[in-house]
Amino acid sequence: MSTSDFIKECQENVLSGVGITSDEATRLFEIPKELIKELAIAANQITREFNGPKVDIEQLNNIKKNSCSEDCSFCGQSAFFDTGIESYQLPTSDEVVVRAQKAKDEGSESYCLVAAWREPSPKDFDKVCNIIEQVNDKVGISIECSLGFLTKQQAKKLKELNVKRYNHNLETAKSKFSEICTTHTYEDRMKTLQIARDAGLELCTGGIIGLGETPKQRLELVLELAAIYPEEVTINILVPVPGTPLELQTHLEKSEIIRMFSVIRFLLPESVIKISGGRETNLEDSGEELLQSGANGIITSGYLTMGGNEAEKDIKMIKKIGLEA
Ligand code: SAM
Ligand code: SF4
Repeated sequence: MSTSDFIKECQENVLSGVGITSDEATRLFEIPKELIKELAIAANQITREFNGPKVDIEQLNNIKKNSCSEDCSFCGQSAFFDTGIESYQLPTSDEVVVRAQKAKDEGSESYCLVAAWREPSPKDFDKVCNIIEQVNDKVGISIECSLGFLTKQQAKKLKELNVKRYNHNLETAKSKFSEICTTHTYEDRMKTLQIARDAGLELCTGGIIGLGETPKQRLELVLELAAIYPEEVTINILVPVPGTPLELQTHLEKSEIIRMFSVIRFLLPESVIKISGGRETNLEDSGEELLQSGANGIITSGYLTMGGNEAEKDIKMIKKIGLEA
């Protein structure tokens, strides 16, 4: 069977609900570069069939910035590296309420509270719970959290507070993880995902591509994500931060980025697949092509330590390509 016919057969199997096997995903991931466009078109048709034209738009609030105890080699917020990024502790709930309201007014579906720490201390966790209560009462936007490792009790509490989804990224393939972080393990991250799922929280997980991993390791991450079957996959494209060990890392080719998003779509037809950090810095079109290659979500209005497109600009881009914001 020709590769083009193979792509079509895989697409039909996904559309009919049969799905594809790991071996088939591996073959899709290894197709020649000249056929990436065909793969992307097929992935886009799967996205539209299962998710319609709507793009999931999210805004972030980095509620605790920098000075993190962990040594993740890509991260500008690790205390191990001198990146010159400002540090701050938790804001007041009033400040978060104002920003969450702005995100809602700008058309965001969800608002994610993110903290640069390994795990919340009991005292900080209580403060975050208070912030969530206030946002629930005064704004009413779907809340997501990314607070590092959680205990079972903390996960249960977040669920009680109506937190919809918990973000915790695997970051990279298991076989690469010890090269990018030594202060915790891949298994630690898997454990937190299980704790969040057991508490009834939806899962958002993914990683960063362009860390110097091999294509085989990117495939390894894709297959791991498919096995977890999260409600949302979030893929960052490395933004090399000056002062971190990855500051000189070379950019990935666009075809490799499209390959990644497209194959994830074949494996997870119903999930939100979000283009996260690095969208504006790595993609000249700010993600237009990726939103037509399997992705159906973006983060807008800036990231944890850097700015991004204004919400209005992103919404214009989404409408321009015939999708809904
Ligand atoms: N500290 C918690 C943790 O590690 O799970 C939560 C927040 S962490 C800062 C959020 C995510 O941002 C990371 O999991 C990583 O995927 C992403 N990220 C961090 N630095 C990045 C960079 N330089 N380029 C792209 N994505 C990055
Ligand atoms: Fe800390 Fe999270 Fe950054 Fe790792 S990715 S250094 S845990 S903030």
